[in-house]
Amino acid sequence: MKVYFWGSRGSLPASITSAMIEAKIFKALQAAQSFCLSTDDAIKTFIHNELPFAVRGSYGGNTSCVEIRGLSEHVLCDAGTGLRDFGNHVLKTKKLTGQNDVPDVFHIFVSHVHWDHIQGFPFFTPAFIPGNRVHIYGFQAELEEAFVNQQNTPCFPVPLQAMRADISFHVLEPGRPYDIAGISVTGIKQNHPGDSYGYCFRQDGKKVVYSTDSEHKENSTEDSYEFIEFFQDADLLIFDAQYSFLDAVATKENWGHSSNIIGVELALRSGVRRLCLFHNEHTYDDEALDQFLSDTCKYLQLIDNSSPLKIYLAYDGLEIEI
Ligand SMILES: [Zn+2]
Ligand SMILES: [Zn+2]
Repeated sequence: MKVYFWGSRGSLPASITSAMIEAKIFKALQAAQSFCLSTDDAIKTFIHNELPFAVRGSYGGNTSCVEIRGLSEHVLCDAGTGLRDFGNHVLKTKKLTGQNDVPDVFHIFVSHVHWDHIQGFPFFTPAFIPGNRVHIYGFQAELEEAFVNQQNTPCFPVPLQAMRADISFHVLEPGRPYDIAGISVTGIKQNHPGDSYGYCFRQDGKKVVYSTDSEHKENSTEDSYEFIEFFQDADLLIFDAQYSFLDAVATKENWGHSSNIIGVELALRSGVRRLCLFHNEHTYDDEALDQFLSDTCKYLQLIDNSSPLKIYLAYDGLEIEI
């Protein structure tokens, strides 16, 4: 199983500016001054070995959309703006392989219907193609209504009913296991304004947990805390770490998000193998996010320097093999 991140940003898309790109080029050229870069290979090696991620790349600006790869049908978590890039990628791949006429089936598991988790759907081109099937799952009774309303006038010019694929909505029950697209799926209710839901996916002995827009409060220190069991022994935990610890406990308490610190603590207590910090704060630039990842790794070292836990910070284009 592989997990691919099409959108990692929290709350709203965050674009990169011309000034940010110029600052990256400046830093790259500055760092290159003492290197002999006379061949293309030397340049590529320098970029990958010598430049920090914040200089050579970017965490990206799309909102939540994560693909679980390696299944017979397309499986996604959330329909943020990353969904547009995913849809375009599917169409391009089909064109290249001459499979334009073969219909696709998509399964989209929605954490909740806050705007940043559904706003990519009106731009999901495969949903306009007759013959394709799109299943949208969630736990909130207003799931379909939210998708319909965001495309109604005066908010959007193309109503959902005009999308020509066969689109269906499925409201699930938390705690009940489902077998969908060859993968076992269970949901859990999370603490978030208006509620949100986490998903646990299991297949062939592998476990991936998608848990975004979830605030863990004081009761998370209890041994019986229900998320310990939900996260238990996950091969990958995708975790809402929008805030620093200070933000989470001070100015942004009750805003419905968690911190990198509580992510590390819960991952350790649950025996998680890989922790991917997710729902990146939209006001953080690439340097701040590099620092955020480095601080998180330092914190892990501090509390358990022999832990095998691997920590990632999600970026648009990250692929993790389980
Ligand atoms: Zn969100
Ligand atoms: Zn939310």
